[in-house]
Amino acid sequence: MKSAALTLLVALFLASPSPCSGDSALVRQVYDGDTILLADGRKVRYLGIDAPEIDHEGGRSEVLAWEALRFNRRLVKGNSVRLEFDGEKKDRYGRLLAYVFLPDGGMVNALLLKHGLAHVLFFPSISNRYREFFLRCQQEAMESGKGLWGKSVKRIAPYYLGNRRTLRFHTPQCPFGRKTGPRNRIRFKTWREAFAAGYSPCRRCRPWALMERSAPSTSGR
Ligand SMILES: [Zn+2]
Repeated sequence: MKSAALTLLVALFLASPSPCSGDSALVRQVYDGDTILLADGRKVRYLGIDAPEIDHEGGRSEVLAWEALRFNRRLVKGNSVRLEFDGEKKDRYGRLLAYVFLPDGGMVNALLLKHGLAHVLFFPSISNRYREFFLRCQQEAMESGKGLWGKSVKRIAPYYLGNRRTLRFHTPQCPFGRKTGPRNRIRFKTWREAFAAGYSPCRRCRPWALMERSAPSTSGR
């Protein structure tokens, strides 16, 4: 009788759906501010944000890349995290695209934004369900000059052109930006305006570049 009740309990537990579409896993390694390796071998790219890149070949990394890595590592390494997906589950490199939650319920993607160690990166192909929340986190960091937002920026264009379809912004000269149809085109006076509206810098024309660069060998940073 007892064991039958137990079996029923286990069956009920197994059948109950998880609170969100996602799964939990242990974090084995942290590559940078927005990419991790799970203990089961899967790689995860954090969704909705972009952290500065580390040049693992030993070249120069982007400003605050090592700070973002350390921050991310402190939060997730050795922890069990819950992954939540949003439409497209994988990117073209086979990495899972996910919102990553800590055991205390905090979302790592948002924490990076709040500390100015990443900016938003939305994709038109997914729902971007945390769009407003992410923009608030980014705005908060921007207003207090945290992380990326406290660094000097090269002013390389008198204004910027956003593409409503791709959610990227460009210098007025960028060939990608110029291809934007008139209906999808939006003009921003400053890069701050573009970020605040949920746009991210084009990888090609790099309309937003921080001046200071950091090297991996820098001690004590
Ligand atoms: Zn561009």
